[in-house]
Amino acid sequence: MKVIVLGAGIVGVSTAWYLLEQGHEVTVVDRQSDAAMETSFANGAQISVSFCEPWANAQAPLKLLKWLTRADSPLLFRPRLDPWQWRWSLAFLSQCSDAAFERNVQQLVALGRYSQESLKSLVAATGIDYHRIERGILHFFSSERDFEAGAAGAELMRRHGVDRRVLSPGQVLEVEPALAAYGPQLAGGTYTPSDESGDARVFTQQLAQRCTLRGARFLFGHAVQALERTGGEISAAHVIDTATQQRRELRADAFVAALGSFTAPLLRPLGVNLNIYPAKGYSATLKLKVPERASVVSMIDDSRKIAISRLGDQVRIAGTAELAGYDTSLDGPTARTRCAALVSRYEELFPGVAHLDEPSFWAGLRPSTPTNIPYIGRSRIANLWLNAGHGTLGWTHGAGSGRALAELISGKRPALDFRFHGQPAPRALGELAASV
Ligand SMILES: Cc1cc2nc3c(=O)[nH]c(=O)nc-3n(C[C@H](O)[C@H](O)[C@H](O)COP(=O)(O)OP(=O)(O)OC[C@H]3O[C@@H](n4cnc5c(N)ncnc54)[C@H](O)[C@@H]3O)c2cc1C
Repeated sequence: MKVIVLGAGIVGVSTAWYLLEQGHEVTVVDRQSDAAMETSFANGAQISVSFCEPWANAQAPLKLLKWLTRADSPLLFRPRLDPWQWRWSLAFLSQCSDAAFERNVQQLVALGRYSQESLKSLVAATGIDYHRIERGILHFFSSERDFEAGAAGAELMRRHGVDRRVLSPGQVLEVEPALAAYGPQLAGGTYTPSDESGDARVFTQQLAQRCTLRGARFLFGHAVQALERTGGEISAAHVIDTATQQRRELRADAFVAALGSFTAPLLRPLGVNLNIYPAKGYSATLKLKVPERASVVSMIDDSRKIAISRLGDQVRIAGTAELAGYDTSLDGPTARTRCAALVSRYEELFPGVAHLDEPSFWAGLRPSTPTNIPYIGRSRIANLWLNAGHGTLGWTHGAGSGRALAELISGKRPALDFRFHGQPAPRALGELAASV
């Protein structure tokens, strides 16, 4: 079958890879000059299967109210005259209960496990090198109250079969001795040894190259303007060459929409209304001055809700979220405050370890759904497939989402207990595994 994948982020490129494995003819279209130039470019680098809780929980509405006025708050809501933002926010509030939280966690853990297993096999088969570190994720707390909440969260995750350990401050330092200078301020931590980290951009770009070697065609520098519907099917993607402004129509048997946050606006005119809204986040990448004193284990600093990951001789500090539309600029006062806060926090935790004079700042739009569960599956249009809305976990879930969608497109049932879009409700996992 001839399949066109729209979008060459981690999700689109993974989908292309697994479609090739299933024997399809694949073309990938992206407006940028290479793969992973938008949200998959400089994220927190964590493969966090076991740290996958969605933002929506019973405590979230109160926290959000408290954070409304703080420019450096972890999650900032900027109300706009945008009905899609309000629709998203209301749906988000409907997920802020213990029951919805547990239901969503179960789905996210299932997809995460499948994805990590897929990533491991893919890396073993291709040998892609992307600064991978398999040393777990350490979540550390600076106040007793937050630590108690973290320990309760660990208990909940253990009920879902996740190995999340509760650590005393001393044990935190055993896992990551580089935190020693901050030791006196540690209240404790939790640790998931099976999680990992690595550079999503490097991985995605290398995977794209391997897709090309296997026969995929990448049409970079082409923006998708619209999808044309004829009868009950998509008949063509209308694209424009961003350099020459030349327009083209691309035809295929099936189309995959993997355009991150931009999937929702592109599909709206077709009556496919996905509840995906961008949540802007920032990262700072710093060169290490004293690499031997820098952390190796990927971390989450709970007090600031930021991720810290080692990428070779650099460190990436990433986090915070703003629900404020599609802007990715770095030059407004809020952006400047947030970027500066990432660097100053790193220096507070690891004094003198990184060069602070030439930080590389970046902002990206998490394609967020109210549940943090992505749309993977068939849309209401028979040959239009969805792989979008991966929110805070697109790197973690990328490989598995690509593999699962490629299997669905090929008429197979992926072996995981997950509610795929437009598919019958999942059966028990054992039954699923037996049927593949
Ligand atoms: C600050 C931050 C930290 C994060 N940290 C982590 C983390 O530690 N772990 C984790 O798992 N996830 C993390 N994420 C989330 C993760 O980065 C995203 O979920 C993931 O990158 C989404 O991938 P994607 O392929 O769906 O989207 P993208 O990478 O954005 O890919 C979509 C592609 O579509 C293309 N496109 C869009 N519109 C058009 C158009 N009209 N025509 C042609 N092409 C188009 C874009 O150029 C882009 O290449 C983080 C995100 C942010 C912002």
